[in-house]
Amino acid sequence: MSCFVYSPAYYCDIGEHVFPVVKYRMLHDLLRKDPRFADVEFPEPTPVTASDLALVHTDQYIGDLLNCRWTARTRSSELPISRQIIDAYLIGAGGTLLAARSALEDGGASMNLTGGFHHCFPDHAEGFCYVNDVAIAIRRLQSDQKIRKAAVIDCDLHQGNGTAFIFHGDDSVFTFSIHQEHLYPVKEESNLDIGLSGLTRDDAYLRHIEEHIPHILDEFRPDIVFYLAGADPFEGDQLGNLRLTIHGLKKRDHFVLEYCAERRIPVAILAAGGYAVNTDDTIQIHYNTCLALLDVFGRNPEGYRP
Ligand SMILES: [Zn+2]
Repeated sequence: MSCFVYSPAYYCDIGEHVFPVVKYRMLHDLLRKDPRFADVEFPEPTPVTASDLALVHTDQYIGDLLNCRWTARTRSSELPISRQIIDAYLIGAGGTLLAARSALEDGGASMNLTGGFHHCFPDHAEGFCYVNDVAIAIRRLQSDQKIRKAAVIDCDLHQGNGTAFIFHGDDSVFTFSIHQEHLYPVKEESNLDIGLSGLTRDDAYLRHIEEHIPHILDEFRPDIVFYLAGADPFEGDQLGNLRLTIHGLKKRDHFVLEYCAERRIPVAILAAGGYAVNTDDTIQIHYNTCLALLDVFGRNPEGYRP
């Protein structure tokens, strides 16, 4: 059965910052009050281990992380560093692994209420990302022989540069990223990149989703999809200037999840970014992703539409 992975330890004190870390708790608290989520589980993850990290990250970088060292490799996170912050990322990455395992177990979809730290490279942090949770989960599941092939469908405003770099040239992982082109980060090469111009609206964005996602799933036939349902392509976001509405983002979620469900491909959903001027808008977008999961994968006990 679908679950929503959450821990109070997703929150960490990063001081005054554009990144609203309170959003995880706010989202969780709202979901727990909604009778539509009364029957779903909210399991708490354990942190990824040093051996999980070593599947993706370099020894030197892991040493910096685990000892909270402020070096060129960690400073590029654009976040402060503390034990609480690093622990939040390690447990957040554990949440992505747990959501993926849960999705594989029941052949459906599960969501981590954080995750999608797609800017982190093997040897350094970037863009508010201290670990690459999706890459760690994929490598762990491959190493445990739970999956052979994975597809990353990255719909965050920003390109998944760290993820693209990690899996470049790896035939077992397909990376797709749809993002604003002229914006952070410096781009790496995904298997398919859709770089959008500023001011792109719902219709044009959704046409790309409709055109490419079914094709990728049919051609590549992944054993699991990691879907980064970023809230930051929103028109009210502070970090970009795409012009998607809350309604358009809701349709995006439905399209992606429907395409996976129709093909019986398990999905691990990650919240990813969201920096709206009004944090309630970010929460609403993430909330709609949770509802889309229930709507698409909760229609029968098997998790799929008859
Ligand atoms: Zn982003």
